[in-house]
Formats: sequence, structure tokens, C-alpha cells
Amino acid sequence: MTERKNQAGNNFDQWLDSYAARAETLSVSEVRALFAVVSRPEVVSLAGGMPEVSALPHDLLTKSFNSMMQKRGNYALQYGSGQGDPILRDQIRELMALEGISSSIEDLVITTGSQHGLDLLSGLFLDEHDVVLAEAPSYVGALGIFKHYQAHVEHVYTDNDGISPEALEESIQRMQEQGRRIKFLYLVPNYGNPSGVTLSAERRPRVLEICRRHHILVIEDNPYGLLYFDQKPPNALRSMQEDGVIYLGSFSKIFAPGFRVGYVLAPPAIRDKMVLANESAILCPSSFSQMLISEYLATADWKKQIDTFRGVYAAKRDAALEGMAEYLPTLETTRPDGGFYLWVTLPEGIDSKAMLPLAVKELVAYTPGTAFFGDGTGQRHLRISYCYPSPDNIKVGIKRLANVINLQTELLETFSAKEH
Ligand code: PMP
Repeated sequence: MTERKNQAGNNFDQWLDSYAARAETLSVSEVRALFAVVSRPEVVSLAGGMPEVSALPHDLLTKSFNSMMQKRGNYALQYGSGQGDPILRDQIRELMALEGISSSIEDLVITTGSQHGLDLLSGLFLDEHDVVLAEAPSYVGALGIFKHYQAHVEHVYTDNDGISPEALEESIQRMQEQGRRIKFLYLVPNYGNPSGVTLSAERRPRVLEICRRHHILVIEDNPYGLLYFDQKPPNALRSMQEDGVIYLGSFSKIFAPGFRVGYVLAPPAIRDKMVLANESAILCPSSFSQMLISEYLATADWKKQIDTFRGVYAAKRDAALEGMAEYLPTLETTRPDGGFYLWVTLPEGIDSKAMLPLAVKELVAYTPGTAFFGDGTGQRHLRISYCYPSPDNIKVGIKRLANVINLQTELLETFSAKEH
């Protein structure tokens, strides 16, 4: 009889003995588990990272669709290249140039969202027990993939200027002393998910230098870089160093996630392997989505649309910060200059995961900090996503959250007063 637990919950799973050991790493993420609850209209969800796609010009997209079908309909409905449409790859070069990156179309591989790019890269590089260095906190979707490939995630101290070069050096040394194999550093340098922080211009070359010296690859995951509010972020890591940096981009946040199109820019040898891995996994990325995006980029004012998105998210960030200042003025929070997220530190003794059901009862949802650490820490933190609700609803949500946190704080104070 199997030793493995039946992870299927109430549904008895008669195939439990048949799964690969790797399947045990698949568990419902905290973000996913919340989706069912938070989709109720009365709940203000500060939990998911859904872009505001209603800010897109839907009628213009219908026009793009019609003209794309006229021009390239048969290609769009057909299988395509495993590396991705060359016309779209050429257009992506223009997009990346906005972040100081120059590349040839040969080094670009189109993926099914950057989530898929991360999965392919992890499949290429990670064996069981290999080490991935990551910010503290780190993107929950990436942590899920690293776990699936049975890697160990070593979180490196991160502050308001991004990952700390000193702490990075220390972590590398500690891992090396333990005889562990470090495969790459995974970073979201601009407006991190979940922290909202940006790696400073001063730290960028230092992080690159450390990784270069220790022969550690850098994976730069940058879906939010163009969604800055006032000033542009510092240039991409990939613009400072070509070799040893793998750059991931996505159309999900600057256009729409429904297309599921992302891209990877990698040094030639890695790129070759990525193409093979892409073909092996999915044959080719969706021709249809790629050609629609390509038509949109060729005919619409996409830069103006990104400006529109920046304005939309800036107003929401302002609402979130105003809500924090009004209802939770004593809590420490990051102040993002772009992107979708605020990272909040709770009073000592409050566990964000334990508090979540109480918050949902008060009709507000957030993501507990524990989702963003491979080792289950992060209880004292929570992520607020301000990307989806309206500015007014963001404030309502934060007011409700404040009620829950203040009640918890009072209870804690009452208990500790009784103990003394
Ligand atoms: N990386 C980060 C940091 C993200 O926030 C997301 C989406 N939430 C992804 C990757 C995946 O994006 P997609 O697959 O839609 O391109």
C-alpha cells in the first residue's frame, strides 16, 4: 500500500500509486485557492494580479482581428515555428529597445506566457536539490515551478532597493560551503511581485558582477517594467550584460493575458535548447495569438495604450497608498513606482494566513505573505494587489482590512496584558 497521502482531498483518487514522485509537489497555491471565494461580487479582492483589460480599446481589437484574418488568416489557423513568428519577434525587439535592450530576432523564443518560459528554463536547468537564489519575497508562480522541479529556493535578503548584493554574496558562499549546486538567480527587478520594489541602478551592476564571478546565470523576469508611474526604471540587466542573463518578457500586463504570449531572450546555446524544449512541450506557441498581437503592434498606437495603462495603475496605486495612510497609518508598506503590488508588514504576532478567513468574512481578500516564500515564512506580511478593483473599491477594501487588523491587534494586546 502506498505511503503517499491522498492529496485529492475528498475525492478518492484510485491512481495515487501511479503518479510520479514529482506530482506530489503540486498543491493548490494560496492565490489559486482564493479565486473561488474572491470572485463573489461583494468581496473586494486585493488578492489576484489580474490586469485591467477593460482599459483596452475592444473595438480596435475587433478591427485588428478582422484585418489579421484577411492578411494572414491561413497562417494564424495553422501550426507555426517552434521558436515563434519571426515578424512578431522583430516587433518585440522594438519593445525591448524601450528598456535599453538590443538583440537579434534569432535569440528570441516565443512562449505561452512567461510562466511557460520559466517552466521551460527550469526543466532545462534544475535537477533535484539544485539551488535557486531568489528575492525575499519572490513571485509565487515561479516558486511553484521551482518546487515542481524539486529545487531548493534560497531567499536572499531584499530591501526597498531590491536584492542586497552583500546578502547575495553571503548566500552564495554559504551554499558553496554546503557543497550545493546553485543554478541561477531568479529576479523580478522592476516593481516586484509581491514586493513592489525595484532593484536600484547602483545595485544592478553589482548583482551582475557577483553572479558572473561565481558563474551563476541570472533570470530577469520583467513583466512590469513598462508600467512605471513617473520615472522609467533603470535599464534592464540584460542591457548591461548579454552573456549569462536570460530575459523574460510578456504581453500579459502591457496588452492582455488571455493571449498567453511571452518571450525569452537567451544566449545562443541556451536559446537552441529552449526552442527544442518548446517544440517538445507544445510543438509551437499559438499562431493565432501571435498574429493578432503582431497586427495590433503594427497598426495600433500601442505605446499610447501602455501610457493609458500606466495612468490607470498609477491612480490605483495612489488610492491604495491613500487608503493605507487613512486606515492603517502605522503599518509599514512599500511604495511602488510602477506595477501592481504593495507589500505590507503587520504588527508583530499577527499571522496573515490565519487572519485571511476573518478578512474574507469582512468581505476583503488579500494574499498572505507565506505564499511568497519557499520555506513557508512570511506570516507577518501580506500582498495587496491594487491592479483590478476601482480606486474607490480599493479604499473600501483597505478600510475593511483595517477593521480586521485592528481587531486582531486589540485581541493580542488584551491577551498579552493578561499574561503580564
Ligand atoms: N512573472 C511574474 C513576476 C508575474 O507576476 C507573472 C504573472 N502574474 C508571470 C511571470 C507570468 O505571466 P504570464 O505567464 O501571463 O506572461
